[in-house]
Amino acid sequence: MTNTFTVKNPATGETLATITRNSVDEIEQAIQKGHDAFQTWKKTNAHERARLLTKWSNLIQENKLAIAKVMTEENGKPLAESIGEVDYATSYIDWYAEEAKRIYGRTIPAHVDGKRLMVSKHPIGLVAAITPWNFPAAMMTRKAAPALAAGCTFIVKPAEETPLTTIRLTELAHEAGIPTNVIQCMNGQGRVVGKIFTESELVRKITFTGSTPVGKALIKASADTVKSVTMELGGHAPVIVAKDADIDMAVAQTITTKFRNAGQTCVCANRVLVHESIIDEFSTKLAEKTKQLVVGNGLDENTDVGPVINEGSYEKIVQQINDAVQKGAKVLVGAKYDVDQERKSFFVHPTVLANVTDEMEIMHEETFGPVAPLTAFSDLDEAIKIANNTPYGLAAYFFTNDYKVGNYLFDNLDYGIIGWNDGAPSAAHVPFGGMKESGLGREGGTEGIEPYLETKYLSIGNL
Ligand code: ADP
Repeated sequence: MTNTFTVKNPATGETLATITRNSVDEIEQAIQKGHDAFQTWKKTNAHERARLLTKWSNLIQENKLAIAKVMTEENGKPLAESIGEVDYATSYIDWYAEEAKRIYGRTIPAHVDGKRLMVSKHPIGLVAAITPWNFPAAMMTRKAAPALAAGCTFIVKPAEETPLTTIRLTELAHEAGIPTNVIQCMNGQGRVVGKIFTESELVRKITFTGSTPVGKALIKASADTVKSVTMELGGHAPVIVAKDADIDMAVAQTITTKFRNAGQTCVCANRVLVHESIIDEFSTKLAEKTKQLVVGNGLDENTDVGPVINEGSYEKIVQQINDAVQKGAKVLVGAKYDVDQERKSFFVHPTVLANVTDEMEIMHEETFGPVAPLTAFSDLDEAIKIANNTPYGLAAYFFTNDYKVGNYLFDNLDYGIIGWNDGAPSAAHVPFGGMKESGLGREGGTEGIEPYLETKYLSIGNL
């Protein structure tokens, strides 16, 4: 194993940086330092932690454009999306800076005379985070902010595709005055760093965003030390367009949820189920709008859809498109690729597939690419059955102006995040997370700090 890795621009193939992987020793030392720092950080008062978090957020905002450019260079997403992500990332820090002050305990009425019963909340300890490449800033702050707010110390291992944004955010945290051992960044291969994190008794929590197989491995590996785990894993989001839906709005929102970040988010629409009475109009309009999306380097102002992250991703997307076409799907737009094998840059043009059926891989496997597969349904229960027919349960979307239909869909979809006439439900102040094999626990909202807290109960007797 080489002890360096290169970070490449997926739009150009250009090498952006060569990063040294931290050695096993260094990672173990970082764990020890994080554990030692916890002994003092947990005693800082909540208002002081809030003040430092706010300073961190402000510094990130002051450096917004520079951070966004680094993000676009290493991830490929359009600059406007990177700027949006920096705002999204700081919104988590701002929210948890406030929540730090609201980590309340409670008193419980006693069942006998002469007793007083009290409950208080305490930080869980050193937290290790493993983050993905698709949101290099927000996936880090969504974990770091509640951890630090709760009084935990924090070590993050970013994805090797996109470490530069995370490294910069960590530097800014230190500049803001958060002690260097309270928040640390360690680079290395996921498998190697994951093993050290999970085996350490000093790490009390693993928080992970990434694929379901890796999440399952981390849950298993955390069992021996009985660590708390929070898992944000894969998704296979259905979109249901009911017969009464506002079609133009549904088309616009489907484009938002499907094509942002070139379809590389775990909440991106992965199946579009449209009532048979409106599917022709919906698919024509979706294809027309999709055709207008500009594919290119994310640093070009006109770009709507950047490259996919790497060759492996590209091959998986093409395989799913080819499989669908072979089994009878019709390409309404897209299925075109700009590939530079020498420089290793891979662009997939936004694609809409019609006549997609259940036998096709794309109906079951996460695509993580800009492909919208369309299927017709005739009644709502059929749509619900198709939607729930997956081990995943992260995000689902539906479009209807009939409140009974909306209510019925909300009640019956087995998903942790539901967008009703809304293709962009995520925010710092709401709980984000999945059911079934999409994860464990929630991030964001008042729920998002709970995983970083332990509950202590005190019973005082003989008063
Ligand atoms: P993706 O396929 O989207 O890259 P992964 O789950 O492979 O998703 O990666 C998400 C994060 O998990 C990255 O930081 C990656 O380095 C890390 N990772 C990959 N494999 C492992 C593993 N076996 N144990 C721990 N972390 C891993």
